[in-house]
Amino acid sequence: MKFEVTILGSSSATPVYNRNPTAQLLNCNEKFYLIDCGEGTQQQLIRFGFKANKIDFIFISHLHGDHYFGLIGLLSSLHLNGRVKPMMIFAPAALAEILTLQFKHSETVIRYPIEFVVIEADKSVQIFENADLTVETIILNHRIPCTGFAFVQKKRLRKLMVEKLEAEQVPLEYYPLLKRGVDLDLPDGKVLLNIDYTTDSERPKKYCYCSDTLFDEGYFETIKGCDTLYHEATFLHEMLDRANQTHHTTALQAAQIAKDTGAAKLLIGHFSSRYKTLQPLLEEARSVFENTELAIEGNTYSI
Ligand SMILES: [Zn+2]
Ligand SMILES: [Zn+2]
Repeated sequence: MKFEVTILGSSSATPVYNRNPTAQLLNCNEKFYLIDCGEGTQQQLIRFGFKANKIDFIFISHLHGDHYFGLIGLLSSLHLNGRVKPMMIFAPAALAEILTLQFKHSETVIRYPIEFVVIEADKSVQIFENADLTVETIILNHRIPCTGFAFVQKKRLRKLMVEKLEAEQVPLEYYPLLKRGVDLDLPDGKVLLNIDYTTDSERPKKYCYCSDTLFDEGYFETIKGCDTLYHEATFLHEMLDRANQTHHTTALQAAQIAKDTGAAKLLIGHFSSRYKTLQPLLEEARSVFENTELAIEGNTYSI
C-alpha cells in the first residue's frame, strides 16, 4: 500500500529562492491528505502533476499565514471546477470564521459540502479514522496554538497465497476467514493452518508532521517511534536565541528530537529565508542524526 509524502512548500514565512510556504501532500492508499496550505499550494500541485480534486482531507496546523494563505484560493478553485464531493478540514476554530468571511464578501456559495472539524491544541487526541489510517494531534509549542499530526497506518489483513489455495481447491468462502488469521476445520475433517496459506501483511507505518515549534519534550511521547518524522528546522543552531524568541527549532535540535524519539528517518523543512543554500542545515542535522533528508519541493518520500 502506498504511503508517501510529497513536499509542496518548504519555506518559512515568505516565498523565497523558489521555495514556497509550507504544504505537503500525503498519499495513503491513493487517498490524498493535504497538510497545511501555504500560499502557492495550488500552483505547486499543478507543477508536480497532482489533481487538487483528489484531495478529500485538509489538515491545518495553525493560523500563521505561511500555513494557510493558500486555502481560500484552493477551495474557491475546486468550487469553480465543479467539485461536488465533500471536503473535510481539520483546523483551529477561527479558520471557519476566516473562511466564512472571505466567502461572504465575495458572495461565493461553495457548491460542495465542507465538513469542518475543530482542533483543540490542549491535548493530543485522535481526530480522524478511516480504513487505512488514524490521525492524532501533536501538541506543539509555538507563539499561537499549533498542532502537528501523527498519521498511523492500520494493520492490514493477512495476504492469501492464492496459487496454493487454488491448487488445493479451497473454496472461496473460506478466504475471508484466512485473511483474518483463522485456522480452518473443513467438513471433510481436513485442517488448514492459517500460517500455511497466508503471509503477514506489511508492518503499519507512522508519519509525524511537526511544524512550527520550540524544542519541547512535551510532545515526544506522541511522536515516538515514527518511521518518518518531518520536523521544522527553521534555523542553524548558531541562531538558537532567535529560534527560542520566535518559537522555532534549529536543525541540530530537530535531529536531537529524531534521535530521542527513535525515528527511523528525519525530514527537515520550514527553512528560514536567510538560507539560500540548505546544505549547512542538512550537515548540522546529520552530525546528530545520520538518516536526515532535506524536504525538497517536488520530491516524494516514502514513509
Ligand atoms: Zn511557519
Ligand atoms: Zn508559525
